[in-house]
Amino acid sequence: MPSSTFHVLIIGAGTGGLALAQGLKRAGVSVAVYERDRTRRDGLQGYRVGIDADGKRALKANLAPELYETFRATCAERPIYENQMTHKMKYLLSIGPDLLTEEEQPSDEEQDESVSRMTLRQLLLTGVEDVVHFDKEFTRYEQHDDGKVTAHFTDGSSATGDLLVSGEGASSRVRQQYLPHAKLVDTGLIGVTGKTPLTAETRALLDERLFKGVTLTHGPKGAICIFHVMRFKWDTDGELKNGIGGTDAEVISNWPGMLYDNSRDYIMWGYATSDWWLPENIMTMRGQEAQDLVLEMTADWHPNLRRIFELGDPGSSFPLAIRTSEPIEQWETTNVTLLGDAIHTMTPGRGVGANTALRDARLLTRTLARAAKGEMTLLEAVHEYETKMTRYAWDAVIKSRAQMEGHTAAHKGGLSGALARAGMRAFFRVADTVTPIKRKMVLADKSFRGTGREDD
Ligand SMILES: Cc1cc2nc3c(=O)[nH]c(=O)nc-3n(C[C@H](O)[C@H](O)[C@H](O)COP(=O)(O)OP(=O)(O)OC[C@H]3O[C@@H](n4cnc5c(N)ncnc54)[C@H](O)[C@@H]3O)c2cc1C
Repeated sequence: MPSSTFHVLIIGAGTGGLALAQGLKRAGVSVAVYERDRTRRDGLQGYRVGIDADGKRALKANLAPELYETFRATCAERPIYENQMTHKMKYLLSIGPDLLTEEEQPSDEEQDESVSRMTLRQLLLTGVEDVVHFDKEFTRYEQHDDGKVTAHFTDGSSATGDLLVSGEGASSRVRQQYLPHAKLVDTGLIGVTGKTPLTAETRALLDERLFKGVTLTHGPKGAICIFHVMRFKWDTDGELKNGIGGTDAEVISNWPGMLYDNSRDYIMWGYATSDWWLPENIMTMRGQEAQDLVLEMTADWHPNLRRIFELGDPGSSFPLAIRTSEPIEQWETTNVTLLGDAIHTMTPGRGVGANTALRDARLLTRTLARAAKGEMTLLEAVHEYETKMTRYAWDAVIKSRAQMEGHTAAHKGGLSGALARAGMRAFFRVADTVTPIKRKMVLADKSFRGTGREDD
C-alpha cells in the first residue's frame, strides 16, 4: 500500500486539539499544535468535565495505553447519584446505583468519569510537549495554489502545512474566516461557576446524595445550579491519600503531569439564570464580585447551599454567557477543517461538548491515518470526517440547546412562570416514584452519551 506524508497544523491545545495531536503522533503523522496560552498551566479555570462512553472510547483510541491508564487513575471518584433538587434542598428525583439491572449497567469502560479540566489538559499534553507551541495566538490563514496552507500568529510568525485544523474553541478565528455564516447565538442564560474547597466545614453542609452525586438544583424564576463534589486520589499536598495503592498509586506517582496539576478536592458549582434577571454589567464581574452576585440572587435558597457559594474560592468564579452554534449545511471540503467547539459549540445542558470534541479527534485521527497509509487522499479523509462529524454533532447541539434556553416560560415571573416550573417539578416527582419512567430516562441518556455505540 502506498503511503503519503503530510503535515497537520492544529490551532488550540484544548480537549479536541490535544487529543488529535496525541492520535496523529501515534499514527506517525507529522503534527504541530499552536496555543495562545503562554504556558501549560495558564488560562484554565478548574471546572470539572464529565467524560462519557464516547469520550472514553476516543481517549482509549488516541492515547498510548499507559497514558489512558493515567487518565483512569487521575479521574475523580465516580458520582453514584444523579439528583434533581429544589433550592430548599428537597429532592425531586434521585437516581441511585441500583436502578438498572446488572445486564443494563454500562460496562466499566462505558461508565461516566469526572475529571478536572486542568488534569485533563496536563494528561493530554503528556508525551506531545515537543509538538505543542505555547504563546502562539492565531490570527488568520492563507490557502495556496499548491495545496499548502499557512497559519499566521500575532507575534508575526507563521507556520505552513498541508491541513489546518481549528481546535480553538467557541470563538474560533478559523471559523470566522472559513465559515463566516456559521454563527453563535446566545441562549439568554448566563452562568457563574465556582469551586469551594472540600473541608470538614463544607463536607458537613452536604447530605449523602449531594456528597456522592451530581445534583441539579432548581430555584425560583428558572434559576438552576449544578453541584458536584470532586474527590481525587491525592490530598491537598498532592500526596496520595491513605488507601490508594496498587496500579493507581504507581501510575499517579510516575506521571510528570502531576507537577503542573493544581486540582484538589472541591465542590464544583455552576449557577445559571436568565439574563432577564441579571444586572447589565454581569459579564464584567470577576471573582468576589461574581460570587457576591450569586449570593444576592440566591437570598432565599437553603442556607447550606448559600454557605457553599460564600466559601467559594473567589479566583475560581467568573461569568459565562451560554451560547450555542446553529447547525449549518455541510460545506465544500478543503485543506481547512474544524473540530470541537470551534464548529459545534453547545450548551452544557447534556454535558457532551468535550465528549463530542474527543469523538471528533478520534474520527479525524482515523481518517487521516488512512490517508497517511495511502488508502485515501487527504481531502477524502477530511470529507469523510466532516460528513460523519456534522451528523452526530448537530444532533448533540440541538439536544443540548433544548435543555438550556433562557427565555422560556419557566424563567418568567408571575403566574405563567410559576405554572411552568410547577409542571416540571411535578414531572420529576412522578418520575421519581414510577420506576419504569425513571429507568427509561436513564437508559435513553446512557445511549445518547455513547453507551452501546460501536463506531462512527
Ligand atoms: C462550565 C462548563 C462545564 C462543562 N462541562 C462539560 C462536561 O461535563 N462534559 C462535556 O463533555 N463538556 C463540558 N463542557 C464543554 C467543554 O468544556 C467544551 O465543549 C470543550 O472543552 C471543547 O473542547 P475544544 O477542544 O473544542 O475547545 P477548548 O477546550 O475550549 O480549547 C480551545 C483552545 O484553543 C485555544 N485558543 C483559542 N483561540 C486561539 C487562538 N486564536 N490561537 C491559538 N489558540 C487559541 C484556547 O486557549 C484553548 O486552549 C463544559 C463547558 C463549560 C463552559
